[in-house]
Amino acid sequence: MNLLTFKSIAWDERRKGFYSPSHPEYLWDNGIAIRDCVRGCQGRQYDADCRCGIYTSPNWDALDEYAKYPNSIHVLMEIYGWLEIWPGPERDLPDAFILRSWGTKIKAIINTTPEGEVVLPQRWNTALLMAERMKKPIFPWHMTKTLVEINWKSIFDISPYKPLTHVEKLLFEARLEAWNDGN
Ligand SMILES: [Zn+2]
Repeated sequence: MNLLTFKSIAWDERRKGFYSPSHPEYLWDNGIAIRDCVRGCQGRQYDADCRCGIYTSPNWDALDEYAKYPNSIHVLMEIYGWLEIWPGPERDLPDAFILRSWGTKIKAIINTTPEGEVVLPQRWNTALLMAERMKKPIFPWHMTKTLVEINWKSIFDISPYKPLTHVEKLLFEARLEAWNDGN
């Protein structure tokens, strides 16, 4: 099974499409979105100082920076290909994981907050349009979070919702390397 994570996606009424709040020029479709590098990073290789790739996170707090867009929703995503994972050091989110990957695909739409409240009505339009156009299911956050936790346990033997011990961190880094060798 592929690794699962989350991302914020917004609806653009003018272009009638879904886009990343961090990259408004990129429109999402139902297929696998692939890293688009203007500097020409090839295959699994990234230039050390290039920031290309698709950024996602299993942690709600790391997604919240885009919650200010009233038409954005959080979606469950599947990761493809080369992957880099690190805690969000510059974001005051010491326990959040930030993923940078080669490719991702939207799997499901999330319609509640961590507190179990339904997201604001202004976000419903985006959720319903995505459900209809991409034929994706809609789930509450706590269900998808459980799914992500089981998924990370099976692949990396860690929970993305608990701080890692030093030993866990070392083992996790080794497993991530193995993941990249296999992808
Ligand atoms: Zn690049």
